[in-house]
Amino acid sequence: MFRHAKALFGRTRNSWTAAGLLVLAIGLFIGCAAHSSQQSLLPTLKWEPTDTSRPAPPVITPGTASTQQQPGRAPSDAIVLFDGSGVSHWEKNDGSPAEWTVQNGYLQVNPGTGSIFTKQKFGDVQLHLEWAEPVPAQGKSQGRGNSGIKFMGKYEVQVLDSYHSSTYPDGQTGAVYGQYPPLVNADRPPGVWQMYDIVFRHPHFDENGNLTKPATVTVFQNGVVVQDHVVLVGPTGGTRHPYSAHPDKLPLMLQDHHNPVRYRNIWIRELG
Ligand code: MG
Repeated sequence: MFRHAKALFGRTRNSWTAAGLLVLAIGLFIGCAAHSSQQSLLPTLKWEPTDTSRPAPPVITPGTASTQQQPGRAPSDAIVLFDGSGVSHWEKNDGSPAEWTVQNGYLQVNPGTGSIFTKQKFGDVQLHLEWAEPVPAQGKSQGRGNSGIKFMGKYEVQVLDSYHSSTYPDGQTGAVYGQYPPLVNADRPPGVWQMYDIVFRHPHFDENGNLTKPATVTVFQNGVVVQDHVVLVGPTGGTRHPYSAHPDKLPLMLQDHHNPVRYRNIWIRELG
């Protein structure tokens, strides 16, 4: 009886010892793996910490904030796409002059005249623009103050009147249309100026036209993050399609969705 108990105890103790060693080994392995993966990022930084010979960033003059009465000023290195004076930076898809209405410092969608495109082409950008929804609000869901910003003419951040108005979540203001609803509804009432600050990174394709890096977008609406570096699955739209290869720079588009939405203070910065 005693012998059996001792044998059992001995086996148990050995089992515990073996299990303990195994746990220790796994722990060490995980620890080393984590440590080496942290270390593996270090060579990606070319410069030593606190190196004063490292090239200094360019000096710019930042812009000023807008008020409801007055648009702010763009940063000194921005390309101003609309400052209230005219639509010289914009054209229709066929290259003919944009027919949207310029008055009182804003640019208003002229319903039925078509979407407008920048003459200049862009890839990676920071975009600032302000918009105001029609007063009085008319229509509902997607028929209520619909417009939009299509990066490269393909990737839309929605502009809509979603203030006390509902639609499908991936089609409301701040949505990457048909893909991602905004994190929150940060809409202001119709007639009140609202802001977008957006960082868009274009998709990359190899020489055979295969996608090597998808597009990403980060969106602040009225100072609130509504899209946090989301990865676009392809061009936006009511049906989903995979990416198809295109140039690294294409015109930015503002959408005519048959509602007289107003825009002002549109500027863009190209990102390296
Ligand atoms: Mg739209």
